Amino acid sequence: VGSDIRIITEPSVYLVGRQSIDEAAMAAFLADHGVTRWTTDTLVGAERLVEAAGRVAYMSFAKPRPGGNKAYIDHLLESGHGSVLEAAVFNLIITGVSRSLSHELVRHRVGFGYSQLSQRFVDESGCAFVVPPALAVEVAEARALADRGTFPVGALTGGAEAGMRWLILMRLVQEFYADTVDYLLGRDQADSGVGQDKTAARKAAREAARSVLPNETKIFVTANARALRHFIELRAHPAADAEIRRLAVAVWAVLRDAAPALFSDYQLTDLPDGSQSLSTPHRKV
Ligand SMILES: Cc1cc2nc3c(=O)[nH]c(=O)nc-3n(C[C@H](O)[C@H](O)[C@H](O)COP(=O)(O)OP(=O)(O)OC[C@H]3O[C@@H](n4cnc5c(N)ncnc54)[C@H](O)[C@@H]3O)c2cc1C
Repeated sequence: VGSDIRIITEPSVYLVGRQSIDEAAMAAFLADHGVTRWTTDTLVGAERLVEAAGRVAYMSFAKPRPGGNKAYIDHLLESGHGSVLEAAVFNLIITGVSRSLSHELVRHRVGFGYSQLSQRFVDESGCAFVVPPALAVEVAEARALADRGTFPVGALTGGAEAGMRWLILMRLVQEFYADTVDYLLGRDQADSGVGQDKTAARKAAREAARSVLPNETKIFVTANARALRHFIELRAHPAADAEIRRLAVAVWAVLRDAAPALFSDYQLTDLPDGSQSLSTPHRKV
C-alpha cells in the first residue's frame, strides 16, 4: 500500500473556456441606437459583457460615469443587481476531487451545467484516491513507512496506524473493483455465449463493481459568474467541508485572475488548522 496506489492531495482547476465580446456586433447594435462610441477600460470579455448587459438596461453607453468597468461592476455588486452577472460564463475542468465532493458540488443547480467522468464507461481499476485533508499527514507518514517496507505488521500506532488503515482500505476497494469486474464479465459471457454486446457487458460489470468506489473523479463545470459567486460564498465558508472549501478557494483564485472586477472583492483568511476560507461583503448578489 505504498507508492503503488495513486493518491491525490490537491485538486486541479483548469479554466478551459471564457467569453469574448463580438465587437462588430456590439458596434452595430450601438450604431442602430444612435450611439457613436462606447468605451470601457477592460479587455476581459466577461467583464465587458457584464458591463454591456448592465448598460442595456438604462441605455447608458454614451455617458458612462467615471471609474471604468471595475467601478461599474462594484456598483452592481453593492446594489445587488446580480442578474447582470449571469452574462459572464466560464468553463472549468476540475480534477483530483473525490466523489463525495462532486456529490456536494452538483447540489449547486442554478446557473451550473456539469459533465462528469462516467464510472460505467471508464475502467476504474487503476483509479486514484483523494486523501481527505484531515488525514493528509497520517497517510503521507504511512506511505513512507510502507515504501521502506520496514514496519512490523500490527505494530503501528497513532497517526501512522490511522493512515495505514485508510491506505489498506483503498487498496481493498481497488482489488474488489477489479476482481468483481473480471468475475461478472466471465459469468455473463458464460451465460450468454458468443455475440454478447461487449460494451454493454463491461458497463453492466462496472456499474455493479463501482458500488464500493469512493475514488477520484473529473468534472467539466460550466457556470455563470453569479452562480460561481454563490458557490464560492457557501463552499469557501469556514463551515464547509474541508475538501470542497479547498476547491472553492482554488476556483476563486483562477477566476479572480481571469476576471478581477467580478471576483476580487473576496477576503482570504488563514484558518488555525492551516486551511483557508473566503468572505465578501457582497453576499448572494
Ligand atoms: C456548510 C453546508 C452544509 C450543508 N449540509 C447539507 C446537509 O446536511 N444536507 C443536505 O441535503 N444539503 C446540505 N448542504 C447543501 C445545501 O443545502 C444546498 O443544496 C447547496 O449548498 C446548494 O445551495 P443552493 O440550493 O443555494 O444552490 P442552487 O441550487 O444553485 O440555488 C441557488 C439559489 O437559487 C434559489 N433557488 C434554487 N432553487 C430554488 C427553488 N426550487 N425555489 C426557490 N429558490 C430556489 C435559491 O435562492 C438558491 O440559494 C450543505 C451546504 C453547505 C454549504
